[in-house]
Amino acid sequence: MITPWDVSDDVDYKKTMENFGIKPIKDLLKDIENPHHLMRRGIIFGHRDFERIIKSMKEHKKFTVLSGMMPSGKMHFGHKMIVDQLLYYQNYNTEIYIPIADLEAYWARGMDFETTKNLAVEEYITNYIALGLNPNKINVYLQSKNEVVKDLALKLAKRVNFSEMKAIYGFSGETNMGHMIAPIIQVADILHPQLKEKTPVVVPVGIDQDPHLRLTRDIANRAKEFKFIPPSSTYHRFMTGLLGGKMSSSKPETAIFLSDKPSKSLRKKVMSCKTGGRETLEEQKKLGGVPEECVVYELYTYHLIDDDKELKEIYDKCKSGELTCGQCKKLCYEKITEFLNDLSEKRACAREIAEEIIKE
Ligand code: SF4
Repeated sequence: MITPWDVSDDVDYKKTMENFGIKPIKDLLKDIENPHHLMRRGIIFGHRDFERIIKSMKEHKKFTVLSGMMPSGKMHFGHKMIVDQLLYYQNYNTEIYIPIADLEAYWARGMDFETTKNLAVEEYITNYIALGLNPNKINVYLQSKNEVVKDLALKLAKRVNFSEMKAIYGFSGETNMGHMIAPIIQVADILHPQLKEKTPVVVPVGIDQDPHLRLTRDIANRAKEFKFIPPSSTYHRFMTGLLGGKMSSSKPETAIFLSDKPSKSLRKKVMSCKTGGRETLEEQKKLGGVPEECVVYELYTYHLIDDDKELKEIYDKCKSGELTCGQCKKLCYEKITEFLNDLSEKRACAREIAEEIIKE
């Protein structure tokens, strides 16, 4: 069972897609005018009803994008993937909603409201804006302060019973009631923009969030009086941590944080990354590397190289043995340095905007 609060390191994406009826996004790529690099490269691998969003994109019709966050620590490269998708969608006729899940953080993680709010402003919203998100296109709110969302959640709660919640989320007799209500708040987060305007909505998520999407789609179909359009969704892979396994805010050695400064220790972290290189330089030259199993190559693919041609060159040089892992990691660190320096300059101004947004 995959739940939003518990996901293992080695998710079987193929099996999960089959089990829950998630369709491959590669079948739709030909219909998307300008697919995101994460779609082209198979990192966004699946979808539900994304055809509806493609139609809106093609016809320049309005659609909504919703991406919630539950801040739990410093923002790292794995979290950046969501922002990259929001940046893509903001070029279309969209309104972007960003709920801050402070109620869920309180119920499921025991975090107090002030800590969640400060973390959301200082780390997340600040970085979202520094990365290029247009403050005029986003609608950021705290769940605990949004009366429309809470009111809708109360009404929709009667559309699902405990057995269904248990089957979807695996709740037990030990689960606190707040934790059980949290998914209904999420359902209301996703559906409430349609109370104002009936436009299709897409929710870009990691596979661990799919239970929320399944529940929301079921409830949207049952609550006939609201005439909701069931939400579309896309699913992306999780980023591998620098040493293999999961990238995690609570294990700094596994992650590159967006607030990291270029330094000896950061260089050391990059130079110690798990690669797909061979045991010896001789073998590497003879057999070539295995970029498919390499975290450095993953960093290039997900974040550091936009140009498909440049990425292919690295792939080919790795495969042929022309590129050594030492050279490759050095280049990777240079690209990370350039990215972090640029982001750090933008963050000071973004911080002020982020504070204003939450104050409103
Ligand atoms: Fe990875 Fe680069 Fe080594 Fe290839 S050469 S295995 S891409 S670090």
